[in-house]
This record gives sequence, C-alpha cells and structure tokens, in this order.
Amino acid sequence: MSLKHSVRPISAASDQARPHYIAHPSKQKGAAPFIVSFDVEEHDRIEAAAGLDLDSNLRGQYSQRMTASTEWILEELERQEIRATFFILGTVARSNPHLVRAVHRAGHEVASHGWDHQRLHRMTPETFQDDLRLSLDALQDITGEPVLGYRAPTFSVVRKTAWAIDILASCGLRYDSSIYPIHHDRYGVPGAPRTPFLVRGERHEILEFPPATLQIGRLTVPIGGGGYFRLLPGAWMRRAIDQASFSNQNQAIMLYFHPWEFDPDQPRLPLRQPNRLRTYMGIARSRSRMAALLSGRRFGRAIDIADAMLTRRNALASYSLAD
Ligand SMILES: [Zn+2]
Repeated sequence: MSLKHSVRPISAASDQARPHYIAHPSKQKGAAPFIVSFDVEEHDRIEAAAGLDLDSNLRGQYSQRMTASTEWILEELERQEIRATFFILGTVARSNPHLVRAVHRAGHEVASHGWDHQRLHRMTPETFQDDLRLSLDALQDITGEPVLGYRAPTFSVVRKTAWAIDILASCGLRYDSSIYPIHHDRYGVPGAPRTPFLVRGERHEILEFPPATLQIGRLTVPIGGGGYFRLLPGAWMRRAIDQASFSNQNQAIMLYFHPWEFDPDQPRLPLRQPNRLRTYMGIARSRSRMAALLSGRRFGRAIDIADAMLTRRNALASYSLAD
C-alpha cells in the first residue's frame, strides 16, 4: 500500500514538501511506519492511584508538571521532525487550553482520551456518549477542527463494552486505539488482531489501531509503551518494535506514552508495592530512551495513516467484538 499519496494537509508543518509521517525516508526501507502517541493526563489518573486520597496541592502539582512534561515532548518531536498523535482528556482541554493549542499548532493530531478518565466498564452506553461528546466539544472548541481519533482510558474497550464501537462510529470518529490484544488483569481482548483492523460492535465498525505487540511462540507480548517501555531494557525494546515493524510490512505500529513518564523529579504517589516499582522503575532513563526510540524511524500521525488505510478498506481484516 502506498501511504505516500494520501496524507492530509496539516496546519503548521515546517516541511511541507515531505510527507510528514516520514521522518527519515532513507532509513528503515520496507518497514511499517510507527505512530507515536501520548495520552495527556495528570499523573494521579493512573489506574494504580484509583481510590487514593490525595490533597489538592499535590493534584495541582501534577497538573502543572503534566504541562511542563508535554512541552518537553513537543520540543523533542520538533527536534526530530516527527508529527505525533495526542489523546487528550476533555478536562485537560478545559483547564489547560493553551497546551492543546500548542500541540495543534505544532502540527500534531489532537484526539480524544475521553472527558475525565472514567473507564468504560463503569459507564452505560448513554453516559459514555455524553462523556465522549463533552471531550470532543472541549477539544474542537480549541482547535476548530473535528476530532477523529479516540483512545479509551486504560484500554477499556473490551468485549463487555463492545457497544462503545457503535457509539464511536455514530459520533463520526474515524478510528479507535483502545483494544489491546493481550491477556491482562485489567483490560485486553486476547485473540484480537495485532495489526490495524476493522472492529465491529453491535451494528457499526471502525478502524482500530491496537498497541504494538510481539508474537513469541504462543505468547503475545505487549511492547507498545507504558510500563513495558520503562521496564524492558532499552535496546531490547527498540529491537522488538523494529521486529514488529519489519514483520508487518505496510501496517502501522502503534506506540503509546504519557507525559508523567518523562518527569523523573515528580513527587511520588503513595503507592504500595508492586505498583510503586511498576510505576517508577526506569523513569530516570525515560527521556534518553525516548530520544533513542524516535531516532531513525518512520513516523506518522494516526489520522493520516488511518485515511490512507481506509482508501483500501477491503484489504483490512475484520473482527467482531460483540460476539
Ligand atoms: Zn489514560
């Protein structure tokens, strides 16, 4: 598939002549492009912190630090001439509109991470639709453009919440990136395709970008980011994503990160083990790891790659979540 000829214009690219999903066209020939994505939320939104009683001063600090860390990400992406996708909470758009504006102005994609990080299994179809609508309105009010991509908090689109696919499609979203095809205690749809596919809810379907995984024998190993990015040795992680890229020619490899992962000096949440270790191990190295990970690979915004893929819809695998 040629992704090259169907990119959408972006608002502020400095390198208009070059398709912006290609950072280094000479490198990695034959490999699938990567999508680097960031879930923009305060550090205390993490699942491990659910139910913690934190004082408002600490919450305020996390909000400020999220901004500073996102600004570091924007600088690093600019330095490496990469356009990325930012899944942003509606509440962040409301409290921090200048941050959404900065992301958008730099030519990155602004997508939705829901309103206030409620996981879908705690919602009904009706409350989910309200949550989604609120977040889309908050983001669109700032960018003046339709928001076309969505990622559920904590990858909470699973079989039980298959109705979410119908709502995303009927609200005009063009793609979703919430289905992790792994076994996990909190999320995951084991057996779902590992490369982009059309996911069917009860009535409608939408393009799905699953986070990157690697197949090792019968095991599907998550390598797309988050804790896995910090816990696995850096060189191992880079080799693994390159292997995924070369074995999935012309498919996109979705990576995901959070601003707080690049803020080594933040005050620690009062977490118990093993959550404390899982959350903070390797965080001091995250910035240099990210710089190395971004270097020399082809990247594109999710929406541009989605649009290119959807021109050849029939070539995509189809998968029903509702069965
Ligand atoms: Zn999140």
